Amino acid sequence: MARVAIVTGGTRGIGRAICEKLQADGFTVVANYAGNDAAADQLKADTGIRCYKWDVGDHEATIAGCARVAEEVGPVDVVVNNAGITRDAVLHKMSYDDWHEVMRINLGGCFNMAKACFPGMRERGWGRIVNIGSINGQAGQYGQVNYAAAKSGIHGFTKALAQEGAKFGVTVNAIAPGYIDTDMVAAVPEPVLEKIIAKIPVGRLGHAEEIARGVAFLCSEDAGFVTGSTMSINGGQHMY
Ligand code: NDP
Repeated sequence: MARVAIVTGGTRGIGRAICEKLQADGFTVVANYAGNDAAADQLKADTGIRCYKWDVGDHEATIAGCARVAEEVGPVDVVVNNAGITRDAVLHKMSYDDWHEVMRINLGGCFNMAKACFPGMRERGWGRIVNIGSINGQAGQYGQVNYAAAKSGIHGFTKALAQEGAKFGVTVNAIAPGYIDTDMVAAVPEPVLEKIIAKIPVGRLGHAEEIARGVAFLCSEDAGFVTGSTMSINGGQHMY
């Protein structure tokens, strides 16, 4: 039987590309999303992928949402924690709400999804968790103390949970994308974006499909010895 994969924020941008790639690789894919029903309807119409709406930053809603997926689709074998938001501002202008909301969704979402799905993977002896971090969690970014802290937290979360899952066939890895041409990056002002592209050795923005291919490898059988790692996919913008 096909393995079941949940992709949070799976209806647009990078998440949608991940859904399509995992479906092509033979997984039964479920996309979670927050509120944009039109994008969810479009994904469902184009691919037949089932979409479930809940806020991954809400602990109870996430536990209930994943339980519904398990009941209606099957036990969850793969979680891709992709849902993320930005609320950019320099620190002296950033509100507590901007800080908290980014931490709640970007980092809290990973905890909530793992709480819902990791115990079952551990019991069944196989699982894959892939967390989408960011180049800005590795290198920091002006005007993003909230986002950089949450994404950096994802990298620590990944390494800690990888140690807990290793003996049970559950791998936990992260991908740190550079700048990818999605709605999130479309929100960056043009002059800022031009300066960013000038710093990318490959000379262009990345494509969502390029992140999806990395996720697909980490979710595959072939990646069973890869755990606690961070795969940087950033056109050479940040190397270490
Ligand atoms: P988009 O803004 O294009 O899409 C975000 C997706 O996340 C949407 O499906 C959205 O749902 C969903 N989402 C947002 N908040 C929640 C929530 N509370 N609960 C459930 N789903 C939610 O983002 P990208 O595709 O650009 O980014 C995807 C991931 O990659 C993010 O984690 C981002 O931080 C990371 N990333 C992106 C980079 C880029 O250059 N684009 C670079 C580095 C990292 P809805 O449509 O319903 O709002």
